[in-house]
Amino acid sequence: MEALLNQAITDLKALHSFTDNELGILDMVDKAAEEIAVPELEHYLKHELNREGIEIAKKFGIIGIPIAKEYGGLAAGTLITSLTMERLGQMGMGFGTFYDVQVLLGALTIQRWGTEMQKQKYLKPAAKGDKILAFGLTEPEAGSDPASMKTTYEAQGDKFVINGSKYLISNGSIADAMILFARSKGDKSGISAFIIDTKSPGFSVSMRLEEKIGLFTSDTAMLEFNELEVPKANLLGELGKGMRVAYSALLNGRIGIASGCIGIIDGSLNAAIERARERKQFGKPIGRHQLIQRHIAEIRQNLEMARWPTYFAAIRKDAYEKDLSNQALLKEIDLQSALAKKIASRLAFESADHAVQVFGGFGYSLLSPAGRLFCDSRVTRIYEGTDEVQELKIASSVLGDDFRAFD
Ligand SMILES: Cc1cc2nc3c(=O)[nH]c(=O)nc-3n(C[C@H](O)[C@H](O)[C@H](O)COP(=O)(O)OP(=O)(O)OC[C@H]3O[C@@H](n4cnc5c(N)ncnc54)[C@H](O)[C@@H]3O)c2cc1C
Repeated sequence: MEALLNQAITDLKALHSFTDNELGILDMVDKAAEEIAVPELEHYLKHELNREGIEIAKKFGIIGIPIAKEYGGLAAGTLITSLTMERLGQMGMGFGTFYDVQVLLGALTIQRWGTEMQKQKYLKPAAKGDKILAFGLTEPEAGSDPASMKTTYEAQGDKFVINGSKYLISNGSIADAMILFARSKGDKSGISAFIIDTKSPGFSVSMRLEEKIGLFTSDTAMLEFNELEVPKANLLGELGKGMRVAYSALLNGRIGIASGCIGIIDGSLNAAIERARERKQFGKPIGRHQLIQRHIAEIRQNLEMARWPTYFAAIRKDAYEKDLSNQALLKEIDLQSALAKKIASRLAFESADHAVQVFGGFGYSLLSPAGRLFCDSRVTRIYEGTDEVQELKIASSVLGDDFRAFD
């Protein structure tokens, strides 16, 4: 796989001065991705989790990229983490989804909202990859409208007792711990976030979703909580303020998924170029036929259109990290990350479709990179906020809060 991160780094130099440390991290990401891609392909074809990929990521230390050094990470910022997601996305979103949930929705959320005890117990091992994390917001009847969730918690002495279920949870059946959202029983104090241990009595995996149309190396599960006891010390953030925790995680996640989508576009472009040079029809490489060149030009344009809103969101997010009380900046990156995800995910889907067309019949197979990228690209328009939810966010930012069409 040809790595396009070098091109991204060169182009980004106009906007960001990379330190030697950052360049060293990205070089390591490149090496890790090259190694992960080998078992990723094997497991993708067998429709099973890429456990070796997780071990390789641990070996290279890339799971802790945005985590503070005192918790075992490399203390890099959003842009470097985004470029990591971009590099992983070049091979599809199976491993990228593991990484996004483990790092952006999981570890970074504990870093932002966790107590010192929570950081020592959960963040430190998660940054090394020794604890796998999941993020449980969605329920069978609460997807785009998570505030309508039915999972409940009730305070009992020094514990909370949780009952309910979560659905479509990435890393759900392999997680050691998860960030779980639940509403107060009787709705007295709203939604709260908790860190739960998946070994706790009352936690069970009721189903693993095997029949997906992509992401074959990513674990997706439905989870049940039956009188699950959580120590009060595991409340994440303030009681009743769980949606603030969820929204901050999803903001990171939107930039992460948009970055993975740039990787899908990179991967589609590389695959289409290679095929167009090698495959011959009518006595010449198909790349010499002008209609094939159009597909390649479209993907190249998509790459350009997806990159800049995403890089801009990542750079502004880094500015916000240095100024967490700046509400105007938070509003700006909330919009910018929605724009980036909406634009990049649609363009990733379209680019993988162009690559399938360049491949012809072989493109309609998981044996071709184009086929795999096509299957993985579809979910990026659904998870961590659907296209429609991003559109509502974008429209209300333009029309004003009085026109807000969702909560
Ligand atoms: C592979 C995979 C992995 C996932 N991983 C996780 C995870 O780790 N953790 C987690 O919590 N969730 C996860 N999800 C869930 C994902 O975030 C939800 O599927 C997504 O938020 C949409 O919710 P829904 O599926 O219930 O669709 P619905 O909310 O039922 O939406 C159905 C359709 O209606 C549209 N719609 C809904 N409301 C409106 C509105 N007000 N205006 C216009 N259109 C609207 C939607 O955009 C969509 O097109 C995952 C999903 C998948 C497929």
